[in-house]
Amino acid sequence: MSLADLPPLRESLEAHGLFAKKAFGQHFLLDLNITRKIARLAAPLEDVQVIEVGPGPGGLTRALLEAGARVTAVEKDARFLPLLQELAEAADGRLTLIEADALTVDEDALAGGGPFKVISNLPYNVGTPLLIKWLSRPEPPAQMALMFQREVAQRIVARVGEEAYGRLAVISQAVCEAALVMDLPARAFTPPPKVASAVVRLEPRAERPAPALLASLERITAAAFGQRRKMLRSSLKALGGETLCEAAGIAADRRAETIPVSGFLDLAQALLQRD
Ligand code: SAM
Repeated sequence: MSLADLPPLRESLEAHGLFAKKAFGQHFLLDLNITRKIARLAAPLEDVQVIEVGPGPGGLTRALLEAGARVTAVEKDARFLPLLQELAEAADGRLTLIEADALTVDEDALAGGGPFKVISNLPYNVGTPLLIKWLSRPEPPAQMALMFQREVAQRIVARVGEEAYGRLAVISQAVCEAALVMDLPARAFTPPPKVASAVVRLEPRAERPAPALLASLERITAAAFGQRRKMLRSSLKALGGETLCEAAGIAADRRAETIPVSGFLDLAQALLQRD
């Protein structure tokens, strides 16, 4: 059987007696027009190595394979593997299935050591830790196109001064250019979640913080946004407060929400030099 001959996703689910389980954050995209659109947002995919987290019934996986990608799909729920195996058989060796928790896999081993993209309709309960895991790699993925709850997507792309601006925006945008590229209503999923979703595309900046500076940025942003309404001299007290701000050239009476990404990088650099 070829990809084009596979039955509709709903039929595959029924044939395998599969249903969504809340514990795995399962909300499926069963409309191939939508999954193909997500694949187009991550173009080009021809001969590109992709890691997909949580293929579930395989709707996005099919679209990625149709676009010519080589896909390694990591699924924690073993129930889906027989269905996905049918997809693998239709994909001429371009789909590798791994039963594992994406939080603990080694992406380099999955991707064969070369560059890779990560494209996924992420399980909501682990979306943010997975993004931080990928951003913290010495070499982040060549591109990421990731579906999150819309509120999380907004926290990733928010600019300084916006309400959603915080730790996630600073860390994401220090490493990558991030843009919200697609909105999806809850009804697009089966079963529908309680909230709307959005796809964020992230592409690594040419100049991005080395791992030690990123670790320092994580400490600074945790402290600064942990008490976001306080002045930096007080929220950063344990890390050096006024002295640290002075070393970074940032007025200590400012609040975290007014500091752009570049300012946080200056603070992180000052902390690194002090330690
Ligand atoms: N990609 C499918 C789609 O778009 O229809 C399913 C998306 S569903 C939101 C999330 C998927 O991630 C489910 O298949 C779920 O079993 C899987 N999953 C949940 N936690 C996981 C984890 N820690 N590691 C790998 N897969 C996980």
